[in-house]
Amino acid sequence: MIDLPRKIVVGKGVLGNAGSYLDSVLEPLGESRRVLVVSGPRVSAKIYPTLKGSLVEAGFEVDLETVETPSIDVASRVAELARRRDYSVVVGLGGGKAIDVAKYAAREAGKAFVSVPTVASHDGITSPFASLRGFEKPTSQPAKAPILILIDTSVIAGAPRRYNIAGFGDVVGKFTAVLDWKLAHRLRGEYYGSYAASLALMSAKHVAQHVDEIASMTEEGLRVLLEALVSSGVAMCIAGSTRPASGSEHLFAHAVTLLVKQPPLHGELVGLGTIMMSYLHRLNWKKIRRILRRVGAPVTAYDVGLDADIVVEALVNAARIRPERYTILGERGLTPEAARRLAKTTGVI
Ligand code: ZN
Repeated sequence: MIDLPRKIVVGKGVLGNAGSYLDSVLEPLGESRRVLVVSGPRVSAKIYPTLKGSLVEAGFEVDLETVETPSIDVASRVAELARRRDYSVVVGLGGGKAIDVAKYAAREAGKAFVSVPTVASHDGITSPFASLRGFEKPTSQPAKAPILILIDTSVIAGAPRRYNIAGFGDVVGKFTAVLDWKLAHRLRGEYYGSYAASLALMSAKHVAQHVDEIASMTEEGLRVLLEALVSSGVAMCIAGSTRPASGSEHLFAHAVTLLVKQPPLHGELVGLGTIMMSYLHRLNWKKIRRILRRVGAPVTAYDVGLDADIVVEALVNAARIRPERYTILGERGLTPEAARRLAKTTGVI
């Protein structure tokens, strides 16, 4: 069973028409016209009024719930609110956190989910999985596929450059994620969906072919990056798991977030992980590092303020983060010596 977004709208100023887009996806469902918008605390002051104005004009009743932390407790509280007040739609407006909370709450409450990202920092803006705190492991939970994805490129263009560049790192990670999936298929007989894998791989190739446009954040470059994030999310919808989009490079990123209080951005860590895991996969890791460097993404631990020892420890721990997810790291993971050698060889430390 594949749950896919019904409509994906990418363009300048599309937020101002949010009401009619929502109308067009909801109408056939004949749902109530109450909308709950879940937003992060730092969403720019102009964005919510634009969204709300357009929804109200189209005859929707709109309430706002601001969330600080993307935890399971917060998401469950939002789900309870959505259920109790009979909203038909939960909208996630913001970066990853608000969207994660909204899509998890929508699934819990059995409501439709709409994704309105304000940054292009990772592919969670389109995927049916949420990463929330409060579970034992920092990996993603099944959530709801968005019925509508609304991406206003003028909003994304105004987001901090560092966040959008992190999105590039998350997409580049598909080079190794797809190889890890294939490996798990060959060695462990795991289900492998070649269409979903091709789609995820294509998103990585797509951004790699447009490095200069993305580096200069032109309208075209931004659109390429957004298309790649959307197709990676769709690949997860098709696979029914995060497999096509998340392999050993993500295990490394998750392992780092468990070790430090203020971790770098998800996509930044995935980029570093991809450099190292492509070495293990015998991909052209220097090329991966080159394109990351060209867009201005971090390529060393120093660039993101991480100690070399943390990188080594994360590499050693990575295989144990999610034992059922077989990757190039094997079942037992790297020894500290091998981990240090890998990080040094690839110039990460
Ligand atoms: Zn990711």
